[in-house]
Amino acid sequence: MTKVHTVFCPGCAHKVRLTVSEAPPHDGQANLPDGAEFVCLDFGEACTEGACPLTGSPGIVMGVRLARSHLNDGRFKTMTATCQACGNVTELEVLDSDYVFCTVCETTSRWTLLTLDDETRIAVTLG
Ligand SMILES: [Zn+2]
Repeated sequence: MTKVHTVFCPGCAHKVRLTVSEAPPHDGQANLPDGAEFVCLDFGEACTEGACPLTGSPGIVMGVRLARSHLNDGRFKTMTATCQACGNVTELEVLDSDYVFCTVCETTSRWTLLTLDDETRIAVTLG
């Protein structure tokens, strides 16, 4: 079990849980230097404005890390939409008002809400 540290976050003004993830469990492309990275279990949508004061990483990066780690999936709102990356109609985790994370192919996409003629709103991902 990964060790979880409780740290006071000056950005959120409360204690958050920070852990270090190992290299992602996917083999294949090594797209992360050394693999280990900080993951905040208490990431929230407000964190995407600016950088995370604890790790110095852009807030959205912290959101992607948490989504990819699956350590606290309940943290995200989800919606069903077609993922532009894999083409599946799938569950997307909402990182913030600009980005969603596909739980199938683990791609981060921009998204928007379209309002149709009959006032129905549908979420679409953008390339
Ligand atoms: Zn996808």
